Amino acid sequence: MREHLEHPIFSIISEEADQLQQPCFVIGGFVRDLILRRNSKDIDVVTLGSGIELAKRVAKRLGPKTPVSVFKNFGTAMIKSADWEVEFVGARKESYTHDSRKPIVEDGTLEDDQKRRDFTINALAIGLNKDNFGELVDPFNGVADLENKIIRTPLEPGITFSDDPLRMMRAIRFATQLNFKIEENTLQAITDFRERIAIISGERVIEELNKIILSDKPSIGFKLLDKTGLLPLIFPELSNMKGVEERSGIAHKDNFYHTLEVLDRIVPNTNNLWLRWSALLHDIAKPRTKRFVPGIGWTFHAHNHVGEKMIPKLFRRMKLPMNEKMKYIQKMVSLHMRPIVLSEEEVTDSAVRRLLFEAGDDIDDLMTLCEADITSKNEGKVKRYMKNFRLVREKLKDLEERDHIRNFQPPVSGEEIMGTFGLSPCREVGLIKNAIKEAILEGEIHNNHDEAYRFMLKTASEMGLTPVQS
Ligand code: ATP
Repeated sequence: MREHLEHPIFSIISEEADQLQQPCFVIGGFVRDLILRRNSKDIDVVTLGSGIELAKRVAKRLGPKTPVSVFKNFGTAMIKSADWEVEFVGARKESYTHDSRKPIVEDGTLEDDQKRRDFTINALAIGLNKDNFGELVDPFNGVADLENKIIRTPLEPGITFSDDPLRMMRAIRFATQLNFKIEENTLQAITDFRERIAIISGERVIEELNKIILSDKPSIGFKLLDKTGLLPLIFPELSNMKGVEERSGIAHKDNFYHTLEVLDRIVPNTNNLWLRWSALLHDIAKPRTKRFVPGIGWTFHAHNHVGEKMIPKLFRRMKLPMNEKMKYIQKMVSLHMRPIVLSEEEVTDSAVRRLLFEAGDDIDDLMTLCEADITSKNEGKVKRYMKNFRLVREKLKDLEERDHIRNFQPPVSGEEIMGTFGLSPCREVGLIKNAIKEAILEGEIHNNHDEAYRFMLKTASEMGLTPVQS
């Protein structure tokens, strides 16, 4: 492992630890990522003795201005240097009580410290002192698990998960990010102890869910959440989408698996976490709106609007941000069927203009979502949809250049209407404003002041209004 520790920071830590006569190791995620050749700039250093003292000495060596953040209560200290973040901590032993994931901590040996780690692949350490520099300490065969792509707890998995149930989410998150398998007993223990997730805060659960959603194949994680029974506990709305019902020989598709397919399909086209969330939520109201209509089959009437309305409650409960990100997802969910409907019929200018008006700057994201939503196995159908979407995109571009509808501002303001006809705020002003907007969206007039002004005069005169003399 020596060759991986060439960065000068490691020799500085090594020299200072030797001076203090403290055994010292780099440990955890950094070692795992080093072996997996994943780039990592977070280094965790564990030492038998004071981590804070060691950190202060290392910082001094890095330069007089290197800041050290000391967290006395935790006995840890952190140094930020260039783009590296190095955290120092004394080796510790942990014991847990039933109702909290906060352990009772005491000083311990390196092995105690490795035992308190969540998975064998996260419990690897590399010596940093002169006499063991670069030597791997791997008491739980973590390297073999890395090679075989296995997530396994170092101790009895039931104890590991019951002590800190967040580890169940972490197991599934690592399995998804690394495309690893969760070892059988470990997976069984997640199933057995799933109810313990109740003591974990929503914020921490979401942190892990977001990492799953941002991975290359999020469906791996959601299938594991489903398989272990965690999904109905943390995300019942998604879990409710599972299943197929058949009546009079007609079945609908399984909306849970369809949703996961849409999510996986959107991954190559966006790294935007919230667009990925939109993919996950686009059909969330299908269970609630499902009906069997004899002669027609299964319908999910207005599931886009019902879905839009479900989102604030879901966001509040799941501790997701109730801000413009939520509004963006609501918009995506409410509009997600529009491009499909549009491309099924003749793609008219006015329909495209209306879509552009409603989606505004999010129109490209909406098209990306809709393209991911085409999961049919019928190749001919998929080809037809994709061709129509291309047409919609072309038309969108064309109309945007001509009409600038994307961030529509009425070319004649309410003030101007009131001034022209000597009105105070009233129903007529709203009617005229709306008529102008409709005329632009229908393509009757262009989106400019002159045409809108003339149209206003005509509409107002039909309503019996005449301009006041100025
Ligand atoms: P990532 O950087 O991808 O989020 P990571 O595990 O490398 O994952 P941290 O979450 O900072 O990064 O954790 C660093 C190390 O601390 C882990 O590798 C693991 O050894 C240990 N660790 C973190 N959380 C836990 C936990 N809940 N239980 C036990 N050990 C943990």
